[in-house]
Amino acid sequence: MSQRTNALQSAQGHKEKPSAGSPAKVSEYFGIDVFSEHIMRDYLPLEIFRQLTDNKDASIQIDRKLADQVAAAMKAWAVSRGATHYSHWFQPLNGATAEKHDAFFTPAGAGSSMEQFDGSQLVQQEPDASSLPSGGIRNTFEARGYSAWDPSSPAFILEGTLCIPTIFIAYTGEALDYKTPLLKSNQLINEISVEVAQLFDRGITRVYPTLGWEQEYFLIDESFYYARHDLTLCGRTLCGHTPARGQQMEDHYFGSIPGRVTAFMKEFEVASWRLGIPVKTRHNEVAPNQFELAPVYEEANIAVDHNQLVMVVMDKIARKHNLRVLYHEKPFAGINGSGKHNNWSLATNTGKNLMSPGHTPKTNLLFLSFFISFIKAVSEHPSLLRAAIASAGNDHRLGANEAPPAIMSVFIGKQLTGVLEEIESRVADRKMTPDEKTELKLNIGKIPQIILDNTDRNRTSPLAFTGNKFEFRAVGASSNCGPAMIVLNTIMADQLRRFKQQVDKLMEKNVEKDEAIFRTLRTYIRESKFILYEGNNYSEEWIREAAARGLENTGNTPDALRNYVSGKTIDLFSRNGIFTEKEMVARYEIRLETYAKALQIESRVLGDLAGNHIIPVAVEYQNRLIQNVKGLKDVLPESLYNDHAGNQIHTITKISEHISEIKTDVADMITARKEANAIDSPREKAEAYANLVKPMLETIRYHIDKLEILVDDRLWPLPKYREMLFVK
Ligand code: ADP
Ligand code: MG
Repeated sequence: MSQRTNALQSAQGHKEKPSAGSPAKVSEYFGIDVFSEHIMRDYLPLEIFRQLTDNKDASIQIDRKLADQVAAAMKAWAVSRGATHYSHWFQPLNGATAEKHDAFFTPAGAGSSMEQFDGSQLVQQEPDASSLPSGGIRNTFEARGYSAWDPSSPAFILEGTLCIPTIFIAYTGEALDYKTPLLKSNQLINEISVEVAQLFDRGITRVYPTLGWEQEYFLIDESFYYARHDLTLCGRTLCGHTPARGQQMEDHYFGSIPGRVTAFMKEFEVASWRLGIPVKTRHNEVAPNQFELAPVYEEANIAVDHNQLVMVVMDKIARKHNLRVLYHEKPFAGINGSGKHNNWSLATNTGKNLMSPGHTPKTNLLFLSFFISFIKAVSEHPSLLRAAIASAGNDHRLGANEAPPAIMSVFIGKQLTGVLEEIESRVADRKMTPDEKTELKLNIGKIPQIILDNTDRNRTSPLAFTGNKFEFRAVGASSNCGPAMIVLNTIMADQLRRFKQQVDKLMEKNVEKDEAIFRTLRTYIRESKFILYEGNNYSEEWIREAAARGLENTGNTPDALRNYVSGKTIDLFSRNGIFTEKEMVARYEIRLETYAKALQIESRVLGDLAGNHIIPVAVEYQNRLIQNVKGLKDVLPESLYNDHAGNQIHTITKISEHISEIKTDVADMITARKEANAIDSPREKAEAYANLVKPMLETIRYHIDKLEILVDDRLWPLPKYREMLFVK
């Protein structure tokens, strides 16, 4: 029996499993597996608790005494909850999360033992992580990497292990993870936003970025996952003919969720709630088998941790339901891919959302200062944003008429476009008359009502303002949210600093504060207009228009990544203390290498599938046809034979052509791969993969997909799209 037949049979046997849901009210167990402030209060002396939680703005100085006390409390709590191990939990640059578990248990002599965990183990570890990517930062002779406790993200228990969120840095101080630069960028935007916000409200003493991610994913039955090497090894199908019915009926989106999927969702939601992850919405996506999950937004550092954690939890729980989660950006050709929408905003200690229009002209001027500065920031660095989200997987999405295009632009909606036009139209460099000022202020004062019923949401823009936050929609489904957040925080902070300087300068020249702000904003509106686009971002018209505006449209990762190490980017990050040049270059190289490796694996897998799975079956079927033609000759009168055999011979010829094309293309692809592999420079190697190997994947796939509809269905070795894509 073929692997495909086996897979089909097992998939049919996989029935809905009752989810191990918790009967209690969610509020009764939310965060039960988290060493939260709530729990800390019970376990820590008050003085230590205050030291840890009171002063969120400043980075806490952790002395040994504090660390020991926290460690003792964590241990007591974790052991009481049944944990046996502890682990530093970090986010290295391979995109996954890393853990190394140690037991609390320590032999204490004379056959006895005790649970041991102290401050030094909490604060710092030296994981043997020499095989995690460092981009050449850690030479083997100084291969030490340190993980260090991040007290701003709470520890949690996962499957009996106390996980302590940490940063991961090299012996020489360079960051080797996503969290370190994220924390730096959060701190940076805090400092600068407070300065700007205090122009309006002295009560604002802390500003922190908020992130609400929306995670798209596919689910398939695990039997299919194992029966297709492309899925097991690459996370996406490298061939497969589009099914007769895909997403054209548009009946999946918000449709009712299949029972087996609901059981899976319920179970991972319970697990998430226990871990304090506020998952809130779930629904079907546009494509069959595609779903989305979104939590309530949180402080960005915690939201990034929670996204990484949810991805792990979902994967574990899917397996229990004989399902597999696919986070790849494009697991199936011809239907939509998966993204991660990053909703980003800035919140204050006073409970205000700085991206939310206020109720009065004064608070709206505060809003406009941040809102317009954001647009200006993006207009300064569109290519850096593109670089931040570039990956082999995301290249299949961006610009493929379903996801945001590779061209970065900002959508703000009709009402706000009107507001900006109005501010801009006031004569620059001239003092506004009191009447003009009042009129303008009154108009701005109207923003809240208008915004609330702003329904003209544009689904095609990569960066859309959606009433009280910016939604960055171009992030890949599989990627860590960190890099996108780091870029947004840094470009915004850099811009806000300039805003403050410009306003201050005008005020020094005795320009009144509001006037100084208006003038500065007016210049920004004029200078950054080219980044605003309200039309259909999928259209040909936009591609032409964007080119005329000088906006970049880079279709592949190696090209997009060049902007990651441009003089402008290095200047931005080093000036703001987020990355040194060495760190940028290391990250650049890691991403190029990851890209080349992804294509190398895909190319090897497709070569194997073509040569060892597809061609033998195509030849077998072709032989049957040949036998059939020969048989026809024996039994049919010659007049009929010529007619009837002609059709069969046509099919035999077609099969022959496709087989021959595949063989030639696979041979060419292997040659191209060898050439690429021989290149030392990470950039040139990635470019060779993009330009020489990747196109071959497409042509080979084309011929395999043609064979799929020519060859007898019973012989076809791989589960087909129509079989995999409709989970029941
Ligand atoms: P939709 O865009 O689907 O209509 P919402 O506007 O309610 O839904 O929110 C979408 C996402 O935006 C949610 O994941 C939510 O957590 C996030 N979000 C809402 N407000 C903020 C905010 N102030 N900062 C960051 N994310 C936010
Ligand atoms: Mg969205």
